[in-house]
Amino acid sequence: MDIKQIKSRLKREAPDLYRYVRMRKIKKAIKVLLLDTVILSLTWFTLAEMNRVKNKAVILFCVIAICFLYSFLAKPRGLLFGKSWYVTVENKYEQTVKENEGFVRIYTQFENVRYVFLELKSEKKETKTVRLPAHCSRGYEVGDKLLFYNGLHFPFVTENTEKEKIVCSRCGAVNEKSNSACVDCKISLFKIS
Ligand SMILES: [Zn+2]
Repeated sequence: MDIKQIKSRLKREAPDLYRYVRMRKIKKAIKVLLLDTVILSLTWFTLAEMNRVKNKAVILFCVIAICFLYSFLAKPRGLLFGKSWYVTVENKYEQTVKENEGFVRIYTQFENVRYVFLELKSEKKETKTVRLPAHCSRGYEVGDKLLFYNGLHFPFVTENTEKEKIVCSRCGAVNEKSNSACVDCKISLFKIS
């Protein structure tokens, strides 16, 4: 099923989840635009105040370039322009990872956090490993076909109709497949298969 069909089904069958994705993207776009506006205005006013700065145009151009690079090529790009992708789970394992809870170098406080790692292969044979909280483990098995829908945190299982568990794509809580809404965050559970 192509992403356009999934999108229209999502809009129809789980309108609250659809709205959640849209709002996430809108909020992100507003944040990025605000940040860019603040940086550019500050640069503009600073340059205007410093009367005899040489190469004003060059400085302004560099700042615009940095803003552009950050907004469209770096971090926010994934959410704003990223693609949804289909993958197959090739391998699955659980592991405990030591994570730093505090600010690095100010204070360190390591905590053991358990994760489930999914080794994935896309239709184009690209491989990738993703890390999800361990409680999601029961929702994904080796051989499952998944769809990582852009804007959501947890993938949909697209095949395997006999599955009894379903992972909420927003909060990651494991639900009975018969549930229509997530037990934890109450958002609609979207079932592709
Ligand atoms: Zn949930």
